[in-house]
Order: sequence, then structure tokens, then C-alpha cells
Amino acid sequence: MRDALCRDLLDWYDVHARQLPWRVPPAARRAGVRPDPYRVWLSEVMLQQTTVPAVKGYFRRFTETWPTVEALAAAEDGAVMEAWAGLGYYARARNLLKCARAVVAEHGGRFPETAEGLRELPGIGPYTSAAIAAIAYDAPATVVDGNVERVMARLHDVHTPLPAAKGELTALAAALTPEARPGDYAQAVMDLGATICTPRRPACGICPWRTPCAARAAGTAPELPAKAPKAVKPVRLGHAYVARRADGAWLLERRPDKGLLGGMLGWPGSDWSAAPAPAPPLAADWRTVGEARHTFTHFHLRLAVEVAELPEGAVPARGSFVPVADFRPAALPTVMRKVFDIARSALLPD
Ligand code: SF4
Repeated sequence: MRDALCRDLLDWYDVHARQLPWRVPPAARRAGVRPDPYRVWLSEVMLQQTTVPAVKGYFRRFTETWPTVEALAAAEDGAVMEAWAGLGYYARARNLLKCARAVVAEHGGRFPETAEGLRELPGIGPYTSAAIAAIAYDAPATVVDGNVERVMARLHDVHTPLPAAKGELTALAAALTPEARPGDYAQAVMDLGATICTPRRPACGICPWRTPCAARAAGTAPELPAKAPKAVKPVRLGHAYVARRADGAWLLERRPDKGLLGGMLGWPGSDWSAAPAPAPPLAADWRTVGEARHTFTHFHLRLAVEVAELPEGAVPARGSFVPVADFRPAALPTVMRKVFDIARSALLPD
């Protein structure tokens, strides 16, 4: 059973593998081309919580700017955080740097070859370590992400809701992981989940596993994997202060390293809570011009956007002025860019 399933899936992958900038296609792999572990690692960290289309541009810019793990390890923290801006989950960027530096300092610039060794590195959990071991080194590691969970739940018609089903689905995935071509197999299951066995409308008619698939036979595929009802996310409120000095400079503040958006540049603001007290960075004629909304993993945020024009000699209690020539909105995290878009139309009307 396992051999037939793996063969059918790998035959399909040999023809239909997605072309991805970090991937060595199956034909090249058979010809002996090995993936660069640095590129595999970078792509896997970027893909945590983010989609392939969103990652492609970032991956290209990162590998052009820092083509090796040594180059990334030597990069300035601020430059990496800016290059990461917009990808979200900024702890990943901080761990990315820590990991690159650990690989260079402790492993001579070579990533460990086993999932266990990889897990010792900062920011690498069970999924990422298995993915790098399988894809970069062809280790028979079981790689389980959301795509793989969905495919396993359907192939075996598992109705236990997630997250309780994780252990069962991981065991089912492990039982299928082959000794031969485990790297291609791991990528093939991911591709199947991303392109054929999709969440809403699985294309069972063209699926290489349509014959053995239990959910297809039972007609239950679209409702799997079952999920426990989601907790309702709370709403937090806050104030964001966008100030422009008479010479065009913007008042920005780097957030503390720890916590949400840690180390990122943003607008000075209040706490984010149920009833935040206003906390302007200096006394000025603040005007509320709109509300920026953003959803984080655990809460929705609504920020009252307040703007002010400041005279040349203004002295803020927090933050510092960034000259207009150095200000790059694209380097701000998404929520701060939303604030800026609202503030800009009030401060710089067309
Ligand atoms: S047959 Fe349908 S439900 Fe089953 S694995 Fe293939 S696409 Fe998914």
C-alpha cells in the first residue's frame, strides 16, 4: 500500500511539481543537483504562516542581498528587519539572524544534516527541521504542515477535529514517508495539498490518490479536516501618532526588541488594550483622522490615527525624526503602513 501510494504521488510530482525559486525540480534532482540548505532554510522560515506568492519577492531580495548564510550572519540587524517588513511575525526575522549567526559560529557555515541537529538552532521547530532535513539532505523525515494534515485526513477519512487530530495525522504521514526520494515525496505531498487537495474544492478527478482516497469514496472530502470551533478574537484599541515636522521629517520610534513587532520601526503610540490612555509623544495640536484596523494572531487591533504638524524646533519625549529622504514606508510593518496611508491623506492631500 505505502509503496503504491508513494509511487503514484512521485509519478505525479515528476510531471506537475510547482516551480519555486528555492526548489530543485525533480529532473534536476535525479541528475544529481543538490538543493542549497541555506535557500531551503530561508524559504521554510519565510513560509511559516505565509503563502508562497507572498514569499517569492522577499526570497529573491534576501538571496540577492545575502546570497550565503555567512553574508546573512554578517548583516546589520536593522537592514534585515527592514527587508522583512511586511512579512509579519517579526520574531521570525530576529530568529533568522540568530540562526544564521549560530550556523556560522558553531557549525562552520554548514547547516546540520539531521532533524534533531537542526532543531537545536534558533527558530527551527519540528516542522521546519523535518522539512530542511528532507528537502535539503534527503533524510526520511516526516514533514507535516497544514497541507499535509488536510491530505492525510482525507486520504484516511479521519473525522477527529484539529488540533486534537494532530498526533493521529502525523502518525499516518510518518507511516507513508518513503526511504527512497523522501525530499521529493515531502514536497509532493505539499504540492498536492496546495494545488489539488485544496481546502474548499479538492480536484479529486485529477488526483493521483483518487482511487485509494477514503474521503473521496465517502463523499466527505470538502468537510475535512474537521476543526474545533475557533475562539472569538478579542478587540484591542490604541492610538498611533503620526507627526510631520515643517522640513518634512517624520517622527518614528523603534519598538522594544521583545513583544509584538519587536525591533521594528513604527509610529509612537499608546498601549494596545481595552481602554488605552492617550500617550502622545509630545504636546501638539493632534487631530484624529481615521482608524487603522489590523488582525494579529490572537486579537483584532483598532488604532485611532492622530496627526499633527510640528514646527522645526519640536522636541519629542519619545522617538526621533527621520528625514524625508530616508523615510521608506515599505520598511514599516503592515499595521504601521496602514496607519501611514490614513495619515498621509490628511497631512499630504493630493
Ligand atoms: S482524492 Fe480528493 S480528497 Fe482525496 S487526496 Fe485526492 S484531492 Fe484530496
